[in-house]
Amino acid sequence: MSDKPVKFCNFCGKSEDKVQSIFTAGSSNICDECVTYCYELLMGPLAKTKQSRKSSTKSKTDDDTEINLLTPAEIKAVLDEYVVGQDKAKVTLAVSVYNHYKRIISQDNDKDDIDIQKSNVLLLGPTGVGKTFLASTLAKILDVPFAIADATTITEAGYVGDDVENVLLRLIQAADFNIEAAERGIIYIDEIDKISRKSENTSLTRDVSGEGVQQALLKIIEGTVSNVPPQGGRKHPNQEFIHINTKNILFICGGAFDGLEKSILKRINSSALGFGAEINSKKEMTKNIFHKVIPQDLVKFGIVPELVGRLPIITVLDELDEEALIKILTEPKNALLKQYKKLFEYDNIDLIVEDDALMEIAKKAISQKTGARGLRAIIEEVLMQPMFEAPSNPDITGITLTAASIRGEEAPRYITKKSKTKE
Ligand code: ADP
Repeated sequence: MSDKPVKFCNFCGKSEDKVQSIFTAGSSNICDECVTYCYELLMGPLAKTKQSRKSSTKSKTDDDTEINLLTPAEIKAVLDEYVVGQDKAKVTLAVSVYNHYKRIISQDNDKDDIDIQKSNVLLLGPTGVGKTFLASTLAKILDVPFAIADATTITEAGYVGDDVENVLLRLIQAADFNIEAAERGIIYIDEIDKISRKSENTSLTRDVSGEGVQQALLKIIEGTVSNVPPQGGRKHPNQEFIHINTKNILFICGGAFDGLEKSILKRINSSALGFGAEINSKKEMTKNIFHKVIPQDLVKFGIVPELVGRLPIITVLDELDEEALIKILTEPKNALLKQYKKLFEYDNIDLIVEDDALMEIAKKAISQKTGARGLRAIIEEVLMQPMFEAPSNPDITGITLTAASIRGEEAPRYITKKSKTKE
């Protein structure tokens, strides 16, 4: 037996074997739990964890009020204010998110032993159609911590790259190191399709970019207690780890799954699609086919069955057409054009975008195949010179964007105090 004196926390009285660590200054000791408690008290709203801490550090019962639980219809209504179109995905997400948080709340309230399983979500859809945006908007609405990870940057343990633990660290950082809050957060994993197995029977013994990463992700998605290095990077044997339970973290995965339509088509006889008459373009056919996806198609694509099983809710986001892109430019609360208008307003300049110009911007974005992602770059490019010149020219009161200016055939037109326009 060691004759080293046992240390006690001077605040809660617990001995060092009852806590994770004790910090000592002179003859005073404080344990890690009291440090966290004081931190939460100082941080204000997090002081709510005080009561739950008394009963059990794991209990979320007293925290329930911290989740801003709206009904699915309310969630959808708020999503509508920001995200254009994608109605099916919005409804699916609203329902699954509502059920997810109801499940967390019921865990502590229900005494029966029915364990509602977590329902993580898979969003299928081309780039720039709002997958990440939907996930981040949801997190904002629910006021829960949110982190984004790119599946392609994650590597199997032991390889150079991001460990899955770093994904959790990002969520913990988003929660300002409040672990209980992080444990109810949302993680969006992008490009999940890019870590598919290269083939169903790959000859490589280790598939760095594929199956190993899927297995690593699977662990945190299905629920585990992870040890996260607080500084990020690699695990180090002497490092203090942050313990985080991932069982209540909602994982939303997204991917374009290019080529998936081929295997869906193979599975279903095209004559059995039942909408042959409505199909008037290849694009529409591809779109409809994606909506027929079933889990087996994803396994064929190269996602391991266990991971597919942990993503039971699959929803498809459609490509954005001209009309949708114009709406995105003009309608949402923080629509891009509203933002640029506001920027110019600071210099008392009125930004006018003609209808034809809006159409031209949408067309250009479609031709770039980057969905709504390309919109900002297109506007930035055409407005760069005016944003440079106008603030130092008090004569300018307005700027008009025409279709020709979007095509690069003319410069944006200036409206000056003398009501003259300059090309
Ligand atoms: P991805 O589907 O590739 O994840 P994102 O969600 O990152 O696409 O979209 C990029 C940006 O385009 C978003 O930040 C948002 O500003 C805009 N955007 C994309 N889709 C929509 C949409 N349906 N409604 C409103 N804005 C959108």
